[in-house]
Amino acid sequence: MHGRRNDDPLLSPQIASLPAPVEDGKPSGTAPPVVRAARKIMFAALPLAALGLVAGLDALSDSAETGSLLLLGLLDEPAHFATVWLFLAAFLPVQYRTICLWALVGSVAIDVDHVPLYLWHVLAADADSRPVTHSLATVVVLAVAAAAGSPRLRSPLLGLALGAVLHFFRDLAEGPGVPLLWPLTTANATLPHATYLLVLTVVAVAAVARRSLTTPLGMDRGIRPPSRRRTP
Ligand SMILES: [Zn+2]
Repeated sequence: MHGRRNDDPLLSPQIASLPAPVEDGKPSGTAPPVVRAARKIMFAALPLAALGLVAGLDALSDSAETGSLLLLGLLDEPAHFATVWLFLAAFLPVQYRTICLWALVGSVAIDVDHVPLYLWHVLAADADSRPVTHSLATVVVLAVAAAAGSPRLRSPLLGLALGAVLHFFRDLAEGPGVPLLWPLTTANATLPHATYLLVLTVVAVAAVARRSLTTPLGMDRGIRPPSRRRTP
């Protein structure tokens, strides 16, 4: 079903709409059916790999006998990225795909607020808490800025807001939780880690189901982006 190529929110609509290049009466780059079937299976199963990555990183983090913030960060940030990617792959409507990249940026960028906390002990809600910017207040500020600001900034700001709120979902299940309702309260909201993994498993299954109904770019007809020709 060639008409479903544009259904994938992570695909380029410009490339997906290109006709298949033809050589000797056949579309060029057409792979054998077995190869195409294998590619489709890998495409659909990618969310399970992301879920496995999160579970593996969390197991490594639990077993790491070190208090190194750098090491913990190196294990934590890819898990944040994978968590947000899973939600986007499962639920992001196609018409909002322009915010996808910004949501992935927001999935890790929000942790920049730990730098002033570690350097100067500012922004903390209390002694053992994450920064106050790890709260819904940040999401509200980004959403209001998106609504009131330049239309060109709307997608980036909405994407960052979405990435931040999904980042908080994972942080709820890690360490002290997050001061979600700051400034109304400095109390940390938390979530059992098992609940986080259970929800993420459901999301991954939903993403697999969605991608199973989507023909990935170029796999149905071997479509390749055209090469740029130099004009004399
Ligand atoms: Zn965080």
